[in-house]
Amino acid sequence: MRPLRAHAPHELRTDLLERARAAAPREACGLLLGRRTPDGIELESLAELPNRARTADAFELEPLDVLAAERAALASGREVVGAWHSHVDAPAVPSVRDLAGAGYGLSLVISLRANELRAWQGAVELELA
Ligand SMILES: [Zn+2]
Repeated sequence: MRPLRAHAPHELRTDLLERARAAAPREACGLLLGRRTPDGIELESLAELPNRARTADAFELEPLDVLAAERAALASGREVVGAWHSHVDAPAVPSVRDLAGAGYGLSLVISLRANELRAWQGAVELELA
């Protein structure tokens, strides 16, 4: 598969970093809404979902939460194009556990330590513009 490009508006990046800070020391997580274009993925907004993981350095989405967010996205004419979560004290790179649980094409990882966002499709980094 050809690597995708993702475009995230400035306000969306700021929002993600703020949510990551607010959730620390736990990881924040949720879904990314937007649309697919011939060039890649246009991110438009996010849905933050409860982190059901029992440990601080992990995240876990509950299927019923995901379903409700998908329904809300469809009702507003948007599509779930990926998922996002934060790392408090690790780089913005998917962990082995993240890779095992990756269900969506696009995975955005926020690192509070590095103060950055990076986009992934599995273990392949995407261009984030
Ligand atoms: Zn992670």
